[in-house]
Amino acid sequence: MGEVVRFRRPSASQRHKGKTLCRNGFHKWEVVDRPFDSKQGRLVTRYRCSRCGATRVRAE
Ligand SMILES: [Zn+2]
Repeated sequence: MGEVVRFRRPSASQRHKGKTLCRNGFHKWEVVDRPFDSKQGRLVTRYRCSRCGATRVRAE
């Protein structure tokens, strides 16, 4: 009795590959929003890596 339930999840190698890319600086940046930076007096673009969650801000 009792079936062995096999969870289907992203393979470890797949995820590891992504993290390796991130660690090498190849993040998968996605634009979060473009708030107005009052300090710099111009628009900035906020990015977030969809893999590791790292963030960065870039002034246009
Ligand atoms: Zn990343």
